Amino acid sequence: MSSILQYLHSAVEYVRLITLSDVIDIAILTYIAYKVIGLLQRTNAAKVAKALLLLMVALWLSYQFNLNAINFMLSKAVELGLLALVIIFQPEIRRFLEQIGTNSVSISRFFREDAPSTELEKAISETVVAYGEMAKNRVGALTVFERTTDLSNVISSGTAFQSSVSSELLKNIFYPKAPLHDGAVIIRKGKIAAAACMLPMSESMNLSKDLGMRHRAGLGMSERSDAVVAIVSEETGAISVSIGGNLRRHLSPETLGRVLRNELLPRQEDDRRTRRSGREGRRRHEDA
Ligand code: ATP
Ligand code: MG
Repeated sequence: MSSILQYLHSAVEYVRLITLSDVIDIAILTYIAYKVIGLLQRTNAAKVAKALLLLMVALWLSYQFNLNAINFMLSKAVELGLLALVIIFQPEIRRFLEQIGTNSVSISRFFREDAPSTELEKAISETVVAYGEMAKNRVGALTVFERTTDLSNVISSGTAFQSSVSSELLKNIFYPKAPLHDGAVIIRKGKIAAAACMLPMSESMNLSKDLGMRHRAGLGMSERSDAVVAIVSEETGAISVSIGGNLRRHLSPETLGRVLRNELLPRQEDDRRTRRSGREGRRRHEDA
C-alpha cells in the first residue's frame, strides 16, 4: 500500500514539474507525428518506412551479437536510406511545406469578411444547374470553391475577372469552343474570381486508369488546399467532387448540391439543425 502511495506521490511530483514549454514541446511533436502518420498512410511511404524499420532492427541485432562487418554495412545503409527517403519523398515534403506556407497566409484571410451566404447559396445552386446540363451534354468542367487556403496563386495562373455565378455563364465558360474553357474556374466568396486556371496535378498512384488530367488536377488541388472541387467528365458526363485528396465519383446533380451545401455552408446547416432540435426538445438539441 505504501509503495502505491509513494508511486502516486512521485507521479504528482512529476506532473508538477511540467512547464508550459513542455506542453508546447509535446503538442508540436504530436502534430508532426500526426502529419507523418498521415503521409505514411496516403503514400507508398509505408513500405519504405517498414524497410527502414527492418534495417534498424537488423542494425541493432548485429550490434548486440558483435557482427562488426555486418553492423558497419548496415549503418551505412541506414545513413543512405535516410538520404534516399528525403529524395524519394521530395514531392510530399514540398507539398507539406507548401501547405504550411499557404495555411499561414490564410490566417490573414480568417479576419476578412466571409462571403454572404446568400451569394454562396446562389453560386451553389447555379453550379448544380450548370453541372446537370453539362453532364447531360458531355461538356467537361472543373470548378474550385475556395475556402480558407488562399488560392491567389492559382487565380493568377488564369484569367481573373469578377462576376456572380450563373449557370449560363458557367456553361459559356466551359463550352468547348470558348476561349476560357481549358482549365479551372475559381469561385471565391460565392463569386467567380477567375477562369482557365492551372491547378496543381496530383501525383497519386491510386487514381483510376480511366481518369485523365482534369480529374488529376482536381484531386491535386484538393490535396494541397481545403478547397472543394467539382468536376464534370467530358468523356462520360460523370460528376465528381474532390475534397481533402478524396475523389467521389458518379454523383447526381442533387447529391452534388447536398455535398456543396454541407461543405460550404456549415454554419447555416448548424443553424438549421439547432432550430430543428430546439423545437424537438432540449435533449435532442444536445445530440444534434
Ligand atoms: P474527361 O473525363 O473530361 O476527359 P480527364 O480526367 O480524362 O477528363 P483529360 O481528358 O486529360 O482529363 O482532360 C483534359 C482537360 O483537363 C484539359 O483540356 C484541361 O481543360 C483540363 N486540365 C488538364 N490539366 C489541367 C490543370 N493542370 N489545371 C486545370 N485544368 C487542367
Ligand atoms: Mg479524358
